[in-house]
Formats: sequence, C-alpha cells, structure tokens
Amino acid sequence: MSAERSAGLLRVEEALERVLEGAAPLAGELVELAEAAGRVLAAPVVATTALPPWDNSAMDGFAVRAADLLGATPADPVRLRVVGEVAAGHVPPRAVDPGTAFRITTGAILPADADTVVPVEETDAPPGVAELPAMVAIRVAAPSGANVRRAGEDVRSGTAVLERGRVLGPSAVALAAASGAARVLVHRRPRVGILATGDELTPAGQPLGPGRIYDSNTPALVVQARAAGALARSFGIAQDDPQVLTERLAAAVAWADVVVLSGGVSVGAHDHVRDAFAALGEVAFWRVAMQPGKPLAFGRTRAGRGGDRADPERPVALFGLPGNPVSTFVTFELFVRPFVRALAGRPAASDRRRVSAVLAEPVTKSPGRRAFLRVRLAADPSGSGQLLAWRAGGQGSHVLSALAAADGLAVISEDVPGLPAGATVEVWQLEDEGR
Ligand code: AMP
Ligand code: MG
Repeated sequence: MSAERSAGLLRVEEALERVLEGAAPLAGELVELAEAAGRVLAAPVVATTALPPWDNSAMDGFAVRAADLLGATPADPVRLRVVGEVAAGHVPPRAVDPGTAFRITTGAILPADADTVVPVEETDAPPGVAELPAMVAIRVAAPSGANVRRAGEDVRSGTAVLERGRVLGPSAVALAAASGAARVLVHRRPRVGILATGDELTPAGQPLGPGRIYDSNTPALVVQARAAGALARSFGIAQDDPQVLTERLAAAVAWADVVVLSGGVSVGAHDHVRDAFAALGEVAFWRVAMQPGKPLAFGRTRAGRGGDRADPERPVALFGLPGNPVSTFVTFELFVRPFVRALAGRPAASDRRRVSAVLAEPVTKSPGRRAFLRVRLAADPSGSGQLLAWRAGGQGSHVLSALAAADGLAVISEDVPGLPAGATVEVWQLEDEGR
C-alpha cells in the first residue's frame, strides 16, 4: 500500500479497537430459566442440590443385595421374596433384608442395604404388571453397584455448574434447572435503536414515488442486531434535514444502548449525521481502509442527552454507517456486531467461522483497502477436498442480489490490488443466512 493511498485511512483493526475501547457487559438481570436461552450468565449457577440427590435406580427392576445373587444363572435362578415396592418420588419404607427384594422404578431412591438393581428383563416378573409378585426369580449374578446411580456422581451440591460468561443453550438450561435454579442472572440484552436517513427512502409496503427507493437498511439492521443478541427497534426514517435528524436521534438515544444510523455520513451537502452526533455527544469520523464501506462515524453520549430522565447517565454508543446497503451490512458485521456482543457479555472477537478457499477466478479491488468480497463456495469438483470461491455477483456496494447470493465474505488484504485464480483466501461464513 503506498503512503499516499493510506493517508488518512484507518486500518480495520484500529477502528475496531477504538470502537471496543471500554465496551463492557451490561448489568445483570434475573430472568426465568426458560426465557434465558441465548443470554449470557453474569454470575455462575451454583447447585443447591447434589445430582442425583441420593443413590437411585437406573432401571425398572428389583433392588436387591448383590450377595444374595451369587451363582444365579438363567438355568439356575435365585429366588427372592418381594417385600414391597418403591416408585420414583416415594421414600422406601424400610431396608432390604437378606433374601428379599423391592420392586423399584427408574429414578426411585435405592432402599437401605440394597446395593444392586436387577433389570426386570433379567427376572421372571412380567414387565408392566401392576400387581406385586410374591416371589421373583433372578437370572443374573449382578455385581454390587450394578444399575445404581450414586448420589452426587453427576454434580456435587455447592459447586458452580455453569460459569459466568456461559451462553445459555438448551443443555445449560437443563443443567441449571436440575441443579435447583429457577432464575438466572444474565447480562441485560443490549438495546439497539435503528434510524435510516435519506429523503429518497420509502418504508416497505408504500408505493414508490419518483426518485424514491425502499428503505432496506432498517429491516436488515433490525435482523442483524437481533442476530447479534440485541433487542432492536426502528426509529423510522429521518429526512435529510438537520433538525429532523437530531430529533429522531435524540429519541433513539433516550431508549437505546447503541444507536445505528445508516446513510448521511459522507461529506455531501445533504449528509448531516456528523453534525447530529456532535450536537448530542462526542463523535469521531473515520475513513476506514475497507471496501465496501469507508466512511464511518462513531460517537459516545449519555441517555440523558436524548431526554431519558430515568437513567440519564446510561452510556450510549452512536454508529453512523454508510448508506449503501452492502456497505451498511458489512460495516455492521465488522464494527457493530462485535460491540453488541461485548455489551451482551460475549467475546467481541468475530465468531464467524472462517474457512480457506481457492479463488476459482481472478479478482481485482481498490489498492490500500481491505476487500470483503461477496462469494459463493462449493467443493472442488475434482475431489481435491478444497473449497472453491466465486464472486456471487457484482461487487458494487449497492448490489444486494450478490450479497443475498453469497455464502460468505472473502477477505482480501489491503496490500494487494487483486488476486489471481488459484490464490487461497479466507472466507467468513455468514451462518445467519442459513448456509
Ligand atoms: P448515503 O450514505 O446517504 O450517501 O447513501 C448512499 C446510497 O445508499 C444512496 O444510493 C442511498 O440511496 C442508499 N441508501 C441510503 N440509505 C438507505 C436505506 N436505508 N435503504 C436503502 N438504500 C439506502
Ligand atoms: Mg443519504
């Protein structure tokens, strides 16, 4: 990259570092376990019970003393007197004496002095019959401990079963519930307010007038913000009018932890985002060495500046993304997604799966800027095991069809003007797209 070309351009990493400076997980809130999926623990979950809480049966069968079974075979079974029954959820009335057995169900407490459970299939008792047999013939010499689940073998009471920072999925929810948690302390979900700017924008569902286009950035940003773990809310479309823009921005600041504007960050006569940010807080304006997406405004303010009286000190981050839809998408991916993840308590570093692929065709790009090409991926038909990458279509920052057709973003260094076919590239897979 020549010095001239790089002048005034900020490297992607540097811009990200500045964005993430001081970004900390939001405070914790108690949430019902079943509502906590996808949330991040702000405190460990500590077991209030052992798992299992007591020795119990792993099978439907008979609880016995292993010493009574010595020598039992199908041809020469041991016969024991059945003195009672213990079902899951009930307490055994007494201990098992020598020569006797309790019928037992899976998950029931093992009676005192029993050390083994013989599955019903290894006995002459018909399975599924309610009536208790007087005697049972046992066909195996099950060793002590067979089919018994020991108290605490899964979890000991008082241990942290899930650590702070753990993202709760179905299995973590199951473990927390079994360990006695009803609610868990999770980081508050970041609130992302979205505001589109531009006189040309029309909301979906309305007829298009002359010179107008549909606002695609708002729905895309709402979906991207939710995929990053945020609560998202649109604050509509602001005209290219400084006063309207500042008012709408204030409303978003009063509600959100993060405000994402699209459009209006360039230096055109109708680009007012910078001034609107400056009216509410501190703002930095960067030209990032990337393609698509170059202008980026980033600011910080407090909710009170937007009119929030309940929590005026709440920090609010302001992002002004370029308006071209592919630029908006990619700059959200690179800068807003990590920031939202950090507020949600997740690692900010990109979580996208990165695969290496071989370019099936040559590509060119602007020198001095890192390119994020929209590519399709397919297995090399020659069976080399390599992935091949093709451009998914036009690479202009307005070409949404190629973005929607892409399996991922191929990252090409700022140091090269392009790459020949056969070069290896790193591709970030866009899993949210279902591919
Ligand atoms: P701007 O960054 O405001 O100069 O806009 C750059 C390009 O992106 C223009 O062609 C705009 O019409 C387009 N654009 C801006 N905002 C949106 C939006 N919300 N949805 C679709 N296109 C947009
Ligand atoms: Mg505009």
